[in-house]
Amino acid sequence: MMIPYGRQWIDEDDIEAVARALRSDWLTTGPEVEAFERDLAEYTGARYAVVFSSGTAALHGAYFAAGIGPGDAILTSPVTFAATANAARFLGADVVFADVDRNTVNLDPASARERLDRRVKAIVPVDFAGHPADMDAFRQLASDTGSVLISDACHSLGATYRGRPVGMLADMTVFSFHPVKGITTGEGGAVVTDDRVFYRRLVQFRNHGIERDPEFMADYHGPWYHEMQLLGFNYRLTDIQCALGRSQLAKLPRFLDRRREIAARYTEAFERIEGVTVPAVMPDVQPAWHLYVLRLDPDLYDRRAVFEALRERGLGVQVHYIPVYWHPYYRSLGYARGLCPVAEDYYRRCISIPLYPALDESEVQYVIRSVRSVLEAHRK
Ligand SMILES: *Cc1c(COP(=O)(O)O)cnc(C)c1O
Repeated sequence: MMIPYGRQWIDEDDIEAVARALRSDWLTTGPEVEAFERDLAEYTGARYAVVFSSGTAALHGAYFAAGIGPGDAILTSPVTFAATANAARFLGADVVFADVDRNTVNLDPASARERLDRRVKAIVPVDFAGHPADMDAFRQLASDTGSVLISDACHSLGATYRGRPVGMLADMTVFSFHPVKGITTGEGGAVVTDDRVFYRRLVQFRNHGIERDPEFMADYHGPWYHEMQLLGFNYRLTDIQCALGRSQLAKLPRFLDRRREIAARYTEAFERIEGVTVPAVMPDVQPAWHLYVLRLDPDLYDRRAVFEALRERGLGVQVHYIPVYWHPYYRSLGYARGLCPVAEDYYRRCISIPLYPALDESEVQYVIRSVRSVLEAHRK
């Protein structure tokens, strides 16, 4: 049996919530959608929440709402899931990659400032592994350059930065509810914002560009009347999924406690091993611990051999992430190796070990024992 690097936690009451939605009158566009959006807004402290069919769709919506289009660019980190960059490509925009901070592996504000050019309309830090990016620095950078600050918080629902929750730190904040993320709706995502104009554009974009509120329509022919004002998509999340999301969100504090507990155990177990670097936590930050990433000194360990040995022992270890611009699609656009040296050096060292709230005590012990003995056996 494989212990994966991440997985969902579903209880009987989650299943009951889904069954109730299935028995109700609304499978989609119903009351569970609004209720989940209210719950998300309340939890994150944002004024508005708009749910989407995936985190990727939510990123697409956020970039659209920010007015990103051909001739524009977003600036982001190469240490992320490709969707962060891809969603800008959906809109015909370019992607500027800046390097990451050596400690947190989050977008480095100094590198971002250096690489900014006139095309950059949105700065998109990623809260890598659940550790919030240095949002005060990026807020400053965004206001200095008149760009929109969009947080890819797909890893960090529930994290806090200088006492403020993720969701209150950017103009728009994007979440994912994929099963390995903090809470799940199967597939799903959301954008939270305080801005009324972004909110309206997000709602329209999710639903074919259709506006139903007479206050925002050019015309009015009667109660049936609605206007398709722009080219949108069907990016809706169903009531079935939103019912699951609400039930999951209510348990998030417990999930986060357990993730933090396991992360603390790992750090204690691995921090004194020579050639191993445990995740850094900046002062005044409470990470959501989406991932637990060890970094192996290449002079002491062959990362690939360690990876394969851990897989053989049934640990579903992973590598997060291959620098986005190394992928053939981005190479074909002209990005070359060497663009972000810190991110590339990090990629050679990183390995994610299992971390999710449903890991029980004996599994945590098994992970610790296995990692220790594999590292010992593979030390050069
Ligand atoms: C998961 C993830 C996404 C995409 O979310 P999906 O719900 O899988 O579409 C985007 N960015 C980051 C950093 C992610 O981890």
